[in-house]
Amino acid sequence: MKKITRRELIKQLGASALASGLMGASNQAFAKNSAHIVIVGGGVGGAAAAKYMRLLNADVRITLIEPNPEYIFCPGSNEVVIGLDTLESLTVNYHTIKSRYAVTVIQDRATEIDYANKTLKLAHGDIIRYDKLIVSPGPDFKYDAVEGYSKSLAERDFPAAWHAGPQTNTLRDQISALPQGGTVLITSPVDPYRCPPAPYERASFIANKLKLTNPSAKIIILDSKDDFVFHDVYLDFWKKQHGMGTENARVEWISKKNGGHVTQIDTKRRTLTTANGEVHKGHVINIIPPEMAGSFTRMNGLTEGDWAPFNSLDFSTKRDKDVYIIGDSAAADPMPKTGYIASNQAKVVTKAIQSELTGQQIGTPFITNNCVAMASENWGMTVAETFRYAGNNRPYEERYTLSDPTSNPYQQSIRAEVAKNWQRTFRKDIFS
Ligand SMILES: Cc1cc2nc3c(=O)[nH]c(=O)nc-3n(C[C@H](O)[C@H](O)[C@H](O)COP(=O)(O)OP(=O)(O)OC[C@H]3O[C@@H](n4cnc5c(N)ncnc54)[C@H](O)[C@@H]3O)c2cc1C
Repeated sequence: MKKITRRELIKQLGASALASGLMGASNQAFAKNSAHIVIVGGGVGGAAAAKYMRLLNADVRITLIEPNPEYIFCPGSNEVVIGLDTLESLTVNYHTIKSRYAVTVIQDRATEIDYANKTLKLAHGDIIRYDKLIVSPGPDFKYDAVEGYSKSLAERDFPAAWHAGPQTNTLRDQISALPQGGTVLITSPVDPYRCPPAPYERASFIANKLKLTNPSAKIIILDSKDDFVFHDVYLDFWKKQHGMGTENARVEWISKKNGGHVTQIDTKRRTLTTANGEVHKGHVINIIPPEMAGSFTRMNGLTEGDWAPFNSLDFSTKRDKDVYIIGDSAAADPMPKTGYIASNQAKVVTKAIQSELTGQQIGTPFITNNCVAMASENWGMTVAETFRYAGNNRPYEERYTLSDPTSNPYQQSIRAEVAKNWQRTFRKDIFS
């Protein structure tokens, strides 16, 4: 069989879209069997959208645009920081999405939406016609929120490690090389940011490792908030396992009101300065910067402020009803920015598109977040949240239950097992 080149493929996609009657060029309904669903971003939200669109509809054409040949999951990357796992085991590729779900995957970066002509421009110059465009590019970081910090510093000696990848390994190596009695500084950003409990999970994992290898070392969490999810469970863990509140505390948490908000880094002295002028010196400095919607959304006029607003019924953007926004870039408060939420938003969008294709009314969306976090390999916690569409385009109504602190080791370890299994099944759900 002749192997089709990428350029030929794109030509064909464009030609068949034209052959099917300039679908969606105006307010006309698009042809249900030949609609072209294009997805920007092959992370959790985008990959879930590709898979679930295909499960709902065998006929539509689905194209996924993603610059990288592989995707590295963030859930599980805190384990990599302490050497309990490797990036390789968190890495997946697009073979199954292509072969099992008949999705065309184009390795390129999307740059520009032409809303009037319903086309998407790619960095290499190709132009793709869409009927529906689902956007899930993840977040960008506001490096300049900390004076002196930058993307290039994050890529070298001061990793953020908040997109799993080379920075995760840099942080791991720095923790392993920490001098005896050394200090690790971790900053935790203002809300909203991806995976709210993850900075505290990371601090706990590092503390557990150092307890064995470098017991006089110290971890200081400098927080831009006064509260965080699972606050009570983590404080309980830090007190019991790491002497928090005592003279020899291995973990210290400094809230915003106690001067934790970091404003400046001095890379030569390896210090962080906080809003109240206090200076903290760290052998390892892990800055987790505040976030905003990914640059693709900002460059295409999809954002208001830092995030991209949407119509609550179907996640279509305020800018254009045929362009949808999901995942961490969406202004989805009260929904947290988690992979689980991103994948469920993908299901709402694909169902809404399928309903439109088949002339059905869109159902009432209901989104769940069954998320997990750990303090150690045998100390876990879970959150079960529901988000119900409140009608009339109002924000979703939230209900949730969180694990409380418990001294029962059986309960702690059952929750940790739930957390470990959650990661495995979640990765499988999205990419297989
Ligand atoms: C340490 C850590 C632990 C976490 N643990 C959990 C957890 O336990 N549970 C949980 O539910 N969530 C967890 N998360 C959060 C989860 O990873 C994110 O919420 C989720 O990945 C969001 O999905 P997304 O599709 O919005 O973004 P991503 O998964 O980041 O995907 C975005 C994709 O878009 C691509 N892209 C960007 N711009 C373009 C463009 N212009 N053109 C084409 N493609 C583009 C990127 O290359 C990327 O592949 C964790 C996050 C971190 C940092």
